[in-house]
Amino acid sequence: MVALGSNQRHPRHGAPAGVLAAALRAFAAAGLNVLVVSPVIASRPLGPSRRTYANSAALVTSALPPPALLAALQQIEAAFGRRRRGQRWAARVLDLDVVLWDGGCWASPGLIVPHRAYRERRFVLTPLRAVAPRWRDPLTGLTPCHLEARLTRPRPLPKRHSFRVRRAALQLPRGP
Ligand code: ADP
Ligand code: MG
Repeated sequence: MVALGSNQRHPRHGAPAGVLAAALRAFAAAGLNVLVVSPVIASRPLGPSRRTYANSAALVTSALPPPALLAALQQIEAAFGRRRRGQRWAARVLDLDVVLWDGGCWASPGLIVPHRAYRERRFVLTPLRAVAPRWRDPLTGLTPCHLEARLTRPRPLPKRHSFRVRRAALQLPRGP
């Protein structure tokens, strides 16, 4: 499950919503199979940037293991002119995050799935609810709908689940 975000115009693809549509076309060219795409939502910016974001989510299948998938997504970000230098949360042409994975949890240098911040980000949860309403977060057992409701009416997480990633729940990359 990939979350897409943009808050900058692109010289060729135009406004942020157009950037997201073009990014999805680039997915196919990179060998990623896009199964379902959410509607694009507009959200207020996080951090110092003042431009409005366009956000969506896409259910993607691929034979790639998560790090190779992230590398492919980062190549697409780079092709859209995103520079990684400078301020975090600065205006960006395209941001692609691996939010959830049907293998459950993953942790390796530079990649943690589920994405660490998605449970607190309405601009991720709303599109996610549209494409995968029944997909349960592997760490909390909650659906996107439940997680979104918690943003409005915060409640403690269910006791039986813990945010600490249990080693047994991690699918670590196999050695050579
Ligand atoms: P953010 O997406 O949180 O706004 P960035 O796109 O700048 O911030 O990502 C910062 C770093 O987060 C990336 O270099 C990447 O290696 C790392 N990262 C860790 N987990 C993930 C994930 N699930 N999806 C995307 N990037 C991730
Ligand atoms: Mg990112």
